[in-house]
Amino acid sequence: MNRTAPRPPALVRLALGLTTLAAIPAAAMQAAPHDPPLTIDTHVDIPFAYMREPRFDVGRDTPLKVDLGKMERGGLDAAFFVIWVPQGPLTPAGYARAVEQAGQKYDGIGRMLMQYPDRIRLAATPEQLVANRQAGLLSATIEIENAYSLGHDLRRLDAAFDRGARSVGLVHVGNNDLCSSSLPDTEHGEPAMNSQGDAGMSAFGRAVVQRANRLGMLVDISHASDRCVRDALAVSAAPIIASHSGARAVLDHPRNLPDELLRAIATKGGVVQAVAFKEFLKRDPGREAAEKKLQDAVAKANGDAKYDSDRDDYLPAMAQGMAAIQQQYPLPTLDDYVKQIRHMVQVAGIDHVGIASDFDGGGGITGWNDAGETRNLTAALRHAGFSDADIAKLWGGNLLRVWREVERHAQP
Ligand SMILES: [Zn+2]
Repeated sequence: MNRTAPRPPALVRLALGLTTLAAIPAAAMQAAPHDPPLTIDTHVDIPFAYMREPRFDVGRDTPLKVDLGKMERGGLDAAFFVIWVPQGPLTPAGYARAVEQAGQKYDGIGRMLMQYPDRIRLAATPEQLVANRQAGLLSATIEIENAYSLGHDLRRLDAAFDRGARSVGLVHVGNNDLCSSSLPDTEHGEPAMNSQGDAGMSAFGRAVVQRANRLGMLVDISHASDRCVRDALAVSAAPIIASHSGARAVLDHPRNLPDELLRAIATKGGVVQAVAFKEFLKRDPGREAAEKKLQDAVAKANGDAKYDSDRDDYLPAMAQGMAAIQQQYPLPTLDDYVKQIRHMVQVAGIDHVGIASDFDGGGGITGWNDAGETRNLTAALRHAGFSDADIAKLWGGNLLRVWREVERHAQP
């Protein structure tokens, strides 16, 4: 938690829906005639210096793939902004550090909401999200990615809910105290996914899922191991989501879900948000090696021991290097992404698939490389034969249905 920046009281008012729409000036959003009724991207990362450094002031033009102007121009109504922390040691010091890092991210989102109330509002319920859209405003929903940041204390889930978080992603890269990861830290002895040692969900993980059910929070299994997904399906009283995951049958990557789990999530009434992340859409070892080489070079030029995406991702040298890499190893395209969506719809059904970018966390493809290009994806879906009704489901209808269902399971 950032002690120099206490939680802004206005955020509480926003969360409680106590501000009046009368104060809102002329609608900031400019809907186009063929826009879906609502467009929700369920995975947008933010840097730790979000809204603190001028370059990350999202009311201005920024190097970020998602800022308010890009959302408004591109017709992206709502984003799930992510409270991500890297996986660290399962020790009191590690937990304390993760809690503090999560606090910085809550503060960043709070500052955005405080500073630009005439452009973006918190959406802590599906109704608020719809109302924001109707008022011509953007929506911010808050999502935890890696519940390691609860610091192994269930009460922090309630505290996160009070701060506006409405989705809890159990795990990230490397196993944590809740769950085994789809990408365990095998270099340091963690068992491979689906090996005999893969432990699935811990007792604490189960307690978090059950508490999330009672609070009416979405349980998000993106990044979890297959076994942990099965455990979450068994433990959760409510449908679950994958906020940003693809289909393993299309591209064999541990972060993508096998058809069996796509079906199981659908059978339980949940939704899998297909993600526009290059490595889950197209295998390109040449590009991966070139990016790694560039990162090492940029870190070295900066005098850093190793690359730090938060610090280095938006440096001019990085942007220039990435442009050169793009020439040689082009990103996947909208066609690759739509192919994966189509497969997921075939397997899970049109009512159980949605959309996520993972922008500013590595996401972005040719054609949908920032929020300003959102309408390209809608056009690509239409071109691929999806009806307007299907597109409305993919772009947020399904997610809102699941969220409302999760709220019905809440026991305040
Ligand atoms: Zn992620």
